[in-house]
Amino acid sequence: MPEKILCHRCSFILYQGREPVLPGDVVKKYDRCPRCLTKLSRKPIKVLIEIRGKK
Ligand SMILES: [Zn+2]
Repeated sequence: MPEKILCHRCSFILYQGREPVLPGDVVKKYDRCPRCLTKLSRKPIKVLIEIRGKK
């Protein structure tokens, strides 16, 4: 299932894709949010993308 991982502060999309990733790995990759420069929390917001009209 596709998923997004967002900055907890500004909702910048840190990761988006079909491959599931660990939020911890995203934090390691960025350390700080590229947009708002906030130090990322240990657990960024993880959002599963809902598929509309699933059958
Ligand atoms: Zn941010």
